[in-house]
Amino acid sequence: MDYLPIFTKLENRPCLVVGGGDVALRKVHLLLKAGADVTVCAPQFHSSLLQKAEAKQLKTVQQSFTTEMLKGKWLVIAATNHRSVNQQVADAANELQLLVNVVDDPEHSSFIMPSIVDRSPIIVAISSGGKAPVLARLIRERLEALLPMHLGRLATISGEFRHRVKKVIKDVSLRRRYWEKLFGNGQLASLLEKGQTDKAIKLMENSLTADITCGDVALVGAGPGDPSLLTLKALQLMQQADVVLYDRLVSADILDLVRRDADLISVGKHAGNHEVTQSRTNEMLVEYARQGKKVVRLKGGDSFIFGRGGEELEELVEAGIAFQVVPGITAASGCSAYAGIPLTHRDFSQSVTFVTGHRKEGGKDLNWEALSISNQTLVVYMGLLQSEEIQTQLLRFGRSKDTPIALINKGTRSDQHVVLGKLSELVQLAGGLQGPTIMIIGEVVSLANKLAWFNPENNQKLSRDPFLVNLT
Ligand code: SAH
Repeated sequence: MDYLPIFTKLENRPCLVVGGGDVALRKVHLLLKAGADVTVCAPQFHSSLLQKAEAKQLKTVQQSFTTEMLKGKWLVIAATNHRSVNQQVADAANELQLLVNVVDDPEHSSFIMPSIVDRSPIIVAISSGGKAPVLARLIRERLEALLPMHLGRLATISGEFRHRVKKVIKDVSLRRRYWEKLFGNGQLASLLEKGQTDKAIKLMENSLTADITCGDVALVGAGPGDPSLLTLKALQLMQQADVVLYDRLVSADILDLVRRDADLISVGKHAGNHEVTQSRTNEMLVEYARQGKKVVRLKGGDSFIFGRGGEELEELVEAGIAFQVVPGITAASGCSAYAGIPLTHRDFSQSVTFVTGHRKEGGKDLNWEALSISNQTLVVYMGLLQSEEIQTQLLRFGRSKDTPIALINKGTRSDQHVVLGKLSELVQLAGGLQGPTIMIIGEVVSLANKLAWFNPENNQKLSRDPFLVNLT
């Protein structure tokens, strides 16, 4: 970090601006906004500076800079268009160990002024340390668009309400929940947007007595492995969670994004030496929510696709626990995208079917006859151990032995491995693989080589963007 960002309190503190032109005026404006006691020194002044002096908002000293002027000042800004004068101010201030900024000259400054997004009392400061001002400006513009104008008002009334909340809700984590629920409440935002501050305060007061003691559960799909495939909502919930119960399929990179203070509990099949049964997992979800916790149930891919999400929700409904479901990118979508295999294509496949190789004891067998019709894509989850049955049945019901297949192992992760072949080789190719693997069977797989953009051999993206020179 080249600079330490700090927010300084300048109210009624003497500050000096050297220079009387446009640039000085902009800086004076900011200092006055912060309530500083501003003196401006220059041989001549911009008319706006003179007006401000007349209105007693600042003092002017009509003469050239002298070192004596630094006496009693907290900070100084050199804003003349004479390099030598600016240099003289910087040298004198440095001598006195006084914070000095030379406008547009970080080399001679001991502090720099960031771009700001002002939603006082919320203030965001952005700086690139003078290295990439355009980038800093773009970031500021994005934040300007992202942060609603009423944010300042919200922060102000929250500040005024803090004592009251502390009095009514004694427990720290319940208090955090109160604020999170409140700030996540669209009704509050819309009242403030309309300028109905009184109603907003009433809503805050009424929410104090609402039941925040019972927690809730979010069933969150974590996607196939690449953390950047998480949804924004998944990330938000992971960062608000008190407890996260996660599956074996959820990658370490994704778990890294969970709020630091949250309890992480593995309920995967290979958790430690013993298996956590599905019914124990269901019980834990209910128990933690009843303790008032914000629970995130994090599952690989999408919870409603071979994820037993439905079973967990039924349990929550029975226990009367509030819940929400956040979809995730399922393995079929993630793996096919990262392997360059479109699941449907007008020339090759008119439908796609997701099946599981692993079924409940006594569960119904798959309709192999229907699955063997050509020009459709078959995606098999959890199929490695059943590869012999899959190959035999599909061939038996007439699917061509030359049908292209892809086995995608650890798809979308940095160690993704793609094996291409044909249906008659399925058993042989599946034999060498371990870890989560999805099978794609169908004519669309013939496009894999042409459309690949992620090279599984070296995990590099194959850039097709002419602006970015390919590194491989
Ligand atoms: N709910 C998950 C699927 C869980 S079943 C989803 O929507 O993706 C577990 C199976 O999913 C694995 O056996 C494997 O077949 C597939 N799978 C999950 N993640 C995978 C990955 N990153 N690469 C390949 N297959 C994956």
